[in-house]
Amino acid sequence: MNADYHTHTPLCLHAEGTPEEYINAAITSGLSEYGISCHAPQQRLDGSEPFDDWRMLSSQIPQYLQWIDAAKKHAADKIQVRSGLECDWLPGCETWIQHLRELHDWDYLIGSVHYISPPAEIHRNPENNDQPWDFDNPAWIGTWSKTDINLAWDLYWKAYTEMADSGLFDILAHPDLIKKFGYKPEGDLTRYYEPVINAIATSGTIIEINTAGLHKPCAEIYPDLTFLELARDAGIDIIISSDAHHPDEVARDRSKASELAKAAGYTHTTLIQQRQRSYIAID
Ligand SMILES: [Zn+2]
Ligand SMILES: [Zn+2]
Repeated sequence: MNADYHTHTPLCLHAEGTPEEYINAAITSGLSEYGISCHAPQQRLDGSEPFDDWRMLSSQIPQYLQWIDAAKKHAADKIQVRSGLECDWLPGCETWIQHLRELHDWDYLIGSVHYISPPAEIHRNPENNDQPWDFDNPAWIGTWSKTDINLAWDLYWKAYTEMADSGLFDILAHPDLIKKFGYKPEGDLTRYYEPVINAIATSGTIIEINTAGLHKPCAEIYPDLTFLELARDAGIDIIISSDAHHPDEVARDRSKASELAKAAGYTHTTLIQQRQRSYIAID
């Protein structure tokens, strides 16, 4: 039995399905725990919203909690339902993350790096130059071929390391998301991984093996085997997640993620409830 803790709701404007459909899919997949962690609200520097067009608004938190309640009600005692948020790591976000933490008794908060801030002259968000760049947004696939890959990777891993150092999150999402569209620097990528592995191990945060990458241009699980081997050697805990944005995606490709985890030397994944961990053998 196992858990899928990174899943979405239609409140983020790019997911579909009802609470009942997601719960039915989770039960059919044989999961013992289903965690809901939709894209958290985010404010602009001046405090206004929307920040972008792929997340819930602050005013929708009550609706989000109702969605979770409906899932719990439908699940009854057939599956455990956990609650969380997928939060964005942005420069200076610490106070906002603390605010999100206090909105509800979340079982966990997930931290993600979806935004980096390249220098203005190579900025790749043509629609809004004041905002950082949401590099993994499918809207920017075409601009990636003109992007300085090494710089993007430097900025991404620097942000990920800062996020790990913050200690604000229970789980860190899709570690090498920067490879989403298949653009990677030349040579051994360990140079990018080592500093962040140290930061994650020091903060004691869980990392996610996220199967969504198999369905993106990179066609790989996040993170790759090398990253996972380093994580295993550093004693970092893992969970396996689908990042489902549709009921059909719940627990998707779980066996491939299990195989990757085992190949890296892992024997157990992590369960989390009210921020407390326990461990179960990988299925
Ligand atoms: Zn999403
Ligand atoms: Zn994400």
